[in-house]
Amino acid sequence: MSKVIQVAIDGPASSGKSTIAKKIAKKLAYVYLDTGAMYRAITLLALDGHIPAEDADALKALAEASEITFEPGENGQRVLVNGQDQSEAIRTDRISKEVSAYSAVSEVRQVLVEKQRAYTQNGQGVVMDGRDIGTVVLPDAEVKIFLTASAEERGRRRFLENQAKGYSEMNLEDLIEDIKRRDLYDSTREDSPLVPADDAVMLDSSDLTLDEVEDSILAEIHRVIA
Ligand code: C5P
Repeated sequence: MSKVIQVAIDGPASSGKSTIAKKIAKKLAYVYLDTGAMYRAITLLALDGHIPAEDADALKALAEASEITFEPGENGQRVLVNGQDQSEAIRTDRISKEVSAYSAVSEVRQVLVEKQRAYTQNGQGVVMDGRDIGTVVLPDAEVKIFLTASAEERGRRRFLENQAKGYSEMNLEDLIEDIKRRDLYDSTREDSPLVPADDAVMLDSSDLTLDEVEDSILAEIHRVIA
């Protein structure tokens, strides 16, 4: 039997991390954890509870008390927040616009990082995607990928995805601007900024198909577990 490993996939907004991470986890029969969904869930609860990003203590209590779970669903995974299916609500532009401010709060990060690490406790193989997986959450992950693509290409992909889902909240230019704003916010925050780990493999997907990205990550994984 081959070695069981941890795979960390980090990168900026809409770089295709979740799609790829999900496919790879399925192929390896590993657990997949979408850490962005967790930050989005806390943002949703905070906005609904009128808790501002400045109120670190209230956010810490909120994150500690919240239960975020994942279940298999039609479009991959359903995200349950305190027992309620919020899979769609956490992906709306309302949340995308606010999530960077809430995820910059160290108290929120501490609570969520602990919950994320709990997924690795029984020695189960895991694929996690996010911004700080290779640097903070799983610094010993055997495979670390930093997946990028130009902001224009990422905006275009998100626009097509939104159209396919019937969302039309933002036009292409606004989406590109939103992505650039989120990149800047995520990569310049003090706690766990979006930066590649020293030992991450850099992968620019601007001119690659999904299958090509998947193949190069799988090649890296097989190199390690062979
Ligand atoms: O991956 P996704 O785009 O859904 O993440 C939403 C937001 O959550 C990011 O823009 C970032 O602010 C935050 N995030 C984070 N650390 C992670 C995953 C996501 O700060 N590990």
